[in-house]
Amino acid sequence: MSTPTVENVVIIGTGCAGLTAAIYTGRANLNPLVLEGPLPGGQLTTTSEVENFPGFPHGIDGFQLMQNLREQATRFGTRFEQALVTSVDFTSMPRKLITAEKVILAKSVIIATGASPRMTGIPGEKELYGGKGVTTCATCDGAFYRKMEVAVIGGGDSAAEEALFLTRFASKVYLVHRRDTLRASKIMSDRATSHEKIQCVWDSVPVAVEGVEQNAVSGLRVRNLKTNTESVLPVRGVFVAIGHVPNTAPFTPPLDVDANGYFKPLHGSHIQTKIAGVYVAGDCADHVYRQAITAAGMGCAAAIEAERWLAEHGG
Ligand code: NAP
Repeated sequence: MSTPTVENVVIIGTGCAGLTAAIYTGRANLNPLVLEGPLPGGQLTTTSEVENFPGFPHGIDGFQLMQNLREQATRFGTRFEQALVTSVDFTSMPRKLITAEKVILAKSVIIATGASPRMTGIPGEKELYGGKGVTTCATCDGAFYRKMEVAVIGGGDSAAEEALFLTRFASKVYLVHRRDTLRASKIMSDRATSHEKIQCVWDSVPVAVEGVEQNAVSGLRVRNLKTNTESVLPVRGVFVAIGHVPNTAPFTPPLDVDANGYFKPLHGSHIQTKIAGVYVAGDCADHVYRQAITAAGMGCAAAIEAERWLAEHGG
């Protein structure tokens, strides 16, 4: 019987954090294995222009940035495998990562599973999601709404960015937010609120996506929280941009998470978990900054820690 392979380091996730960890562990000759989940390249692949990643004075397309990181990781010997980890066993060495098909063994693990879009849960949203008018990705689906009216739900940078992107196609974009000012950064807020095609629908929450009977979005019912009145926005597309939920479930237990589901690293560290040789990086562990560059920084730190740990414990 052949002895199962024990990997030096397995990195779970192919966003900025995971691929940066792969570049560093690859350059350290650790021959990293990266497990690729359902959204290869992570959230940036669904973004249009990335304007704030250092080193790109004129911005860079999100998909292209992730392609570049992947190419760089591959250059240093990173191997990629499509696998969805459903649970883990960290009680002994090597660490066990359990997928539907097999168990992967690793001396050290870097979890960089990111976060998934949060949904509102209103009636009609689930029924009309994916190809029927409800989506979480303007970059992916915006072009389907040429000369139509659409709504974006949310008030953060993502919502402002989605709304601005949609102005390229849509005849009008309603930006539905439950407050009377956006939470987005000033530059994004100013751009969105001053755009002639964007109409802000302040102090309003979505109540239902209409059109379930026709199997296509026919409107978004919203309620004004100040007047307690309801109205229907005549839109064909609804873009949900209300933040993200960290992808930490397969690892809990044994790892600890906070009230919002984000990994809680050891006190005094932002990447080290209570399990020796197991690290977390990026949006699954960061509810404060949540930027591509901070995720990359955490991936780098986790890789350096894994390298040191392996050197001490027989890598
Ligand atoms: P976010 O900053 O957490 O904003 C989420 C928005 O959705 C908030 O306005 C929130 O309202 C609203 N919301 C949450 N739950 C809701 C619900 N159930 N119904 C209605 N509205 C709801 O999330 P984000 O915009 O995805 O941004 C996440 C992080 O990525 C941030 O740090 C952001 O700066 C960053 N980001 C940066 C860029 C960029 O720099 N270009 C682009 C995208 C994202 P409240 O305001 O009332 O809480």
